[in-house]
Amino acid sequence: MLWRLLHVMMALGVIATADVLIAQDQEVKSPGVNATRAFGYLNDICDIGPRISGSGGMKKQQEVIINHFKELGATITEQEFDAPHPLSGQPVRLKNLIVSWHPEKKERILLCCHYDTRPFPDQDRRNPRGRFIGANDGASGVALFMEMGHHMNDLDLSYGVDMVFFDGEELVFRRGDKYFLGSEHFATQYRDNKPDHTYKFGVLVDMIAGKPLRLYYERNSLKYAPKVTQSVWMAAEKVGNRAFIKRARHEVLDDHIPLNEIADIPTTDLIDFDYQYWHTTGDAPRNCSSRSLQSVAEVLLYWIQATPGLK
Ligand SMILES: [Zn+2]
Repeated sequence: MLWRLLHVMMALGVIATADVLIAQDQEVKSPGVNATRAFGYLNDICDIGPRISGSGGMKKQQEVIINHFKELGATITEQEFDAPHPLSGQPVRLKNLIVSWHPEKKERILLCCHYDTRPFPDQDRRNPRGRFIGANDGASGVALFMEMGHHMNDLDLSYGVDMVFFDGEELVFRRGDKYFLGSEHFATQYRDNKPDHTYKFGVLVDMIAGKPLRLYYERNSLKYAPKVTQSVWMAAEKVGNRAFIKRARHEVLDDHIPLNEIADIPTTDLIDFDYQYWHTTGDAPRNCSSRSLQSVAEVLLYWIQATPGLK
C-alpha cells in the first residue's frame, strides 16, 4: 500500500527534494524549548479537570489560555457559535480561540489543536463512564502552543502564524454524534467570509505528548497535503527527531478534514494514534512526556521558519 502510494505521488511529481520543501539551515534559529515549563502547562490544564465543550472547566481553560497569550503579546480573537447539544438538542455555546503572531502579515500559517475533552473515556474497559481529563488528547496541543508562544516573537518569519484552538472536536456521547464542530465552523467561516489574509498551509496536532511518541504519516494528510506533510517530517529529520517516522500508518478523521475539504487549506495531522491510553482514564499526565512535547515544539519552530521552501 505504501509503495503504491509512493509511486502515485512520484508520478504526480509531489515528492521533491528537501531543498525545495524547506529552506536552508542557516536561516533557521533553534530556540531553547523548555520541556519542564511545557509539561507544567500540561499539568495546569489537566488540573482544571474535564474540559467538555460548554462546561465550567472549559471556561476556566479559556481564561488560562487567553491570559497566557495576552501576556506574551499575541493578538487573540474569539470565534463563538452555537451547536445543538447531542443529547438535549439545547444550544451549547462553543468558542474557537485564534492566537495570532505577526497579525499584519497577510500570508499565514495555521497551527491548530482541539482543546475540548471527550465527555467520557468510552474506550476504558473498566470504567467507560469514568472521569476523563485528556492529558494527551486535549491538553498536549494546548501545552505545546503555550510553550511555543514564548519563542514566537524572537523568530524572523516570512509568514504570520495563527494558533487556533478548536472547540467541539469531540462533544460525542454516542455513536453518530457529530465530531469537529469547531474546525468545521472555522473552515466554513473562512470559505464564506473570506478574511483579508490567506492560510498557506496548516499543521494540526493531536496526542503529541505520549511516551514513546510515534508520529507516522497520516494517510488523509498525504492525500490532501502531501508537500506540507513531507516538509514537516523533513524538518524533524533536520532537527534529529526520531519520533517522526516517514511511513504511512493510520488513516484518521480529525480536524484537518474540514480544513482541507471546506477551507482548502492544505493541512497535515501530527497524531500518535498508537497511544495506548486513547479515550481511557489512563490518558493522564503520568502517561505523557515532557520530552515529547519539547521535541514536537522544536520541529514546529524549525518548520515555521523553514516553510518558505514550500512556496
Ligand atoms: Zn479524542
